[in-house]
Amino acid sequence: MPQIKFVKISHILNPTSIGLGEYVINPFLGCEYGCLYCYVKTNKVTSKKIEPWGSFVEIRVNAPRLLEKEILKKRPKVVLMGSTTDCFQPIDKSYKITASCLEILNRYGVYYNILTRSPNILEYLGLLSQGFCKTIYFTINNLPERIKTKLENKSPDYLSRIEAIKRLKDAGLNVIPYFSPILPGVSNPKDIFTTLPDFKRIEFEGLNFMSTNIKAITEAIIESYPSLGTLYQRLSSEESFYNIYWEKIKNQIKTEAKKNNKEFSIYIHKLSSFFTNNYFYSSTYEQI
Ligand code: SF4
Repeated sequence: MPQIKFVKISHILNPTSIGLGEYVINPFLGCEYGCLYCYVKTNKVTSKKIEPWGSFVEIRVNAPRLLEKEILKKRPKVVLMGSTTDCFQPIDKSYKITASCLEILNRYGVYYNILTRSPNILEYLGLLSQGFCKTIYFTINNLPERIKTKLENKSPDYLSRIEAIKRLKDAGLNVIPYFSPILPGVSNPKDIFTTLPDFKRIEFEGLNFMSTNIKAITEAIIESYPSLGTLYQRLSSEESFYNIYWEKIKNQIKTEAKKNNKEFSIYIHKLSSFFTNNYFYSSTYEQI
């Protein structure tokens, strides 16, 4: 159980350039799933926290009241739920901040997109089925247990996420499975097309090697898969190898998508023009 704090915020609709809404709504600060690769843990607000990422959740108790006021003032057409937290993390069952926000969005006719990985979203089907939920991007990956426990120990397991994705679709909602992150040498993204044969479109994202957490992420992967040391060393230090590697993954996914008559997109993080990641040269790993 995470440490809970109740906080008041000054506004809830924050402008965004993400492209999935004019504003983002985050009913919590923090996320009890606490994924090691979460980019939010190092953003300018959360990085000031002394508690470890995943061990705390701040509940923005006045979020629903503010939302109603701000909708009247800002008149948004589409918003994005959950850009820096999972709105459907288990804690909302007790405090219902997300539930109240959805109820308000429905009432004012504001459309919303959702980012989540939580099967708890099934408990909100009544609210989500009122015609204003545009798309649910549901994060999934088929990480083997030995690496899942290191990278996202507290997040929901693969099968419960698959089941949730299918049930959301059966309920008539528009769901896009979002396979992320693809871990080189570990993930098997191609299988998702046959695991979810009824989904027309699946989106993918590669591991972000420029993440500020990459040292810890890479250490966790190599601890579980020592034979991947060379691969990660090269991906972290040779830009041309990096580009060729991901091009190969893209082509494999493209071939599989074509074979299964699916649409797909894949996001590979760009490296800076000057390749500055020298983690392997300052780490305790020996170059092989
Ligand atoms: S579920 Fe999403 S927001 Fe929560 S820790 Fe994981 S990546 Fe971050």
